[in-house]
Amino acid sequence: MRRDRDIARLPKPLLDAYEWQDRGRCRTLSVAAFFDFEEVRGRERATRSETAKAVCRGCPVRVQCLEHALAVEDFGVWGGTTASERELLRSRRQVADAS
Ligand code: SF4
Repeated sequence: MRRDRDIARLPKPLLDAYEWQDRGRCRTLSVAAFFDFEEVRGRERATRSETAKAVCRGCPVRVQCLEHALAVEDFGVWGGTTASERELLRSRRQVADAS
């Protein structure tokens, strides 16, 4: 997992760049429901991720959220994906872009 992501790719700190977050289904939920804790492993971790992803499934800003997460988020569930799923998507995009 890349931890040295280039922050230059973050959107500028303008309200418009983050307005979509106000429409997310998760906006009234605890942030903790979307992030894993080091001590949570195995089936419990998978269950937590699936529960968070279920919230994302009907989210009206899922596409924006996923694109944001693919650019800069290395932890947690964003846009209906886990961190490892986003790593896979990034790899596939790099392969597709190279061909
Ligand atoms: S896609 Fe998921 S994480 Fe993103 S705003 Fe919607 S509910 Fe929240």
